[in-house]
Amino acid sequence: MEKEGSSRLRRIAMKEEEVEPLEFIEEMTSHVDEVQQMVLDDILSTNVNVEYLQRHGIFGRSIDRKTFKSKLPIIEYEDILPDIQRIANGDPSPIFSAQPISELLTSSGTSGGQQKIVPVIANHHEGIYTIFGWLIPTVMNKNISGLDKGKVLFFFLTRTETKSPAGIIMRSVLTSYYKSPQFLCKHYDNINYTSSIPSIHCTDVFQSLYAQMLAGLADRLAIFQIGTTFAPIFLQAIHFLKRHYQELAADIEHGTVNPQVTDAAVRAALGNALTPDPENAEHIRKECSSRDFQGIIRRIWPNTKFLDVIVTGPMAQYIPSLNFYSGDLPLTSTPYGSSECFFGLNLYPLTKPEDVAYTIMPNMAYFEFLPVKSADDIGRITAMQVVDPVDLAHVEDGKEYELIVTTYSGLYRYKIGDVLRVAKFYNKAPQFHIVGRKNVCLSIDIDKTEETELQRAIAAAELAHLRPHNARVLDYICYTDVKTIPGHYVIYCELSPINHSDNSSFSRVIDQCCLTIEQSLNYVYRGLRSYDKTIGPLEIKLVKGGTFHEVMDHAIARGASAAQYKPPKCVKSTWMLDILEARVVSTHFSPGVPSWLP
Ligand code: AMP
Repeated sequence: MEKEGSSRLRRIAMKEEEVEPLEFIEEMTSHVDEVQQMVLDDILSTNVNVEYLQRHGIFGRSIDRKTFKSKLPIIEYEDILPDIQRIANGDPSPIFSAQPISELLTSSGTSGGQQKIVPVIANHHEGIYTIFGWLIPTVMNKNISGLDKGKVLFFFLTRTETKSPAGIIMRSVLTSYYKSPQFLCKHYDNINYTSSIPSIHCTDVFQSLYAQMLAGLADRLAIFQIGTTFAPIFLQAIHFLKRHYQELAADIEHGTVNPQVTDAAVRAALGNALTPDPENAEHIRKECSSRDFQGIIRRIWPNTKFLDVIVTGPMAQYIPSLNFYSGDLPLTSTPYGSSECFFGLNLYPLTKPEDVAYTIMPNMAYFEFLPVKSADDIGRITAMQVVDPVDLAHVEDGKEYELIVTTYSGLYRYKIGDVLRVAKFYNKAPQFHIVGRKNVCLSIDIDKTEETELQRAIAAAELAHLRPHNARVLDYICYTDVKTIPGHYVIYCELSPINHSDNSSFSRVIDQCCLTIEQSLNYVYRGLRSYDKTIGPLEIKLVKGGTFHEVMDHAIARGASAAQYKPPKCVKSTWMLDILEARVVSTHFSPGVPSWLP
């Protein structure tokens, strides 16, 4: 009987037996460790003869978890870069996976902007579909009544594909997914999107956004849900509306399509949907020409119930802007995934953004969790300590971990780079807050300041000094200036428009922000700054409004994926530095020295 139960669980986990999405979630979250064991067995037995496993002494089908962990190292992208280059250059050997590599996914990589390429096998998108196209729509419908009666305006952005030296397709995971049979034959068919397939597949950002916006405006009263992947894309769409509402309204009025949309398939798909609607055009003109865009979403799309935009982790900084434009509609962050594999979803979409916790689905990959030591802990450790990762079923409430995956496409014990904190449990499945990317972004001496730490420090300064003045940080990026002696940390920062009569007193407020940030950094930094004096006072350079949009536009023009664009948190290129420097409006230095001891 028990055996029968476990083989049914196996069939469900491997999607060989059809069940309803909600039953699937119950089964997976109730049997976390059993499913993880099945997934690991499956990956290892399928890839039994691959070069990478044999290189590490793994031969034969039945490898237990202990042997797997003792033989295979925990790795980062750079460790397997030579193997990935062999694949990109056309080596057909089964290096990671017994199944052939079907394409190379170009990840947005770390927030530092380094692009990684991830080799994947043909059915890679089944996992994305499971989360994005199958589970999430059901969870949304369960939580928000009447949703299925309306349409969805989702801004999809697809980017140009390239080829590796050996001719293997290289493209972003979302570009690839939007062209996959899983998306075209199942996901797209199940949801009433206003965007046509040609407009989704069009790689010209202007034409694609124009067509999607026009379709969404023409059908505006039918729209119950608006969204996109990450928050910066949504803000890009809003700015697009601001810039082009006159042309869009003219098209709505006459049932025409702007001649700047030249792609024949995009025009044809739109032409079929448009009929002249002067009344609608008038409404759009009236609302978009009002002085600011506050609450524009509710004013144009009055039946929208929420904004489906990821605002967790580093994206949290965009929440105030989204609230401003949406008129405080609920924000739902639903999927959690990466190019390497999709991980899970938010089972409670209406939770406040700061409380969102993602449930990792144990059938997506084999997951391990490396306990995170804070920079302060690292400073105190004298002897080398080896910390072992724990399994998905054994993470502890409240603790922080770095995510490690072993995937069906053949990544083994690979660090994704995300730091997660266990928030609570659903059945036996842990649910995680996304803390951020584990990235060292600033370093001058032996100090190593990570992105997550800097984010917390900036949040502390914002809370203490900016909120009382009704100001907030819209975006920031950091840089180590080693041209000064000693070198120092620089943070380029864009603030919300502020209404202050006394410039000199507000300038002192920003000076205090510098000191609070320093005080919030780890003790290695504070020691070097106050005792060794090998780091100079932290500097904030305020940049003028719109600077970070320009940085994004440049990054996209230079080949970054529009749909997956995540604002880098550290400057890594001179073009970016040039843009930022040219837009500095004031500079501020820490007026004191942070105290070393806590
Ligand atoms: P990419 O491989 O370019 O798709 O980037 C994947 C990374 O995006 C993940 O490792 C996370 O750092 C980030 N990410 C994905 N989903 C979310 C989410 N729901 N909230 C915050 N960050 C996310």
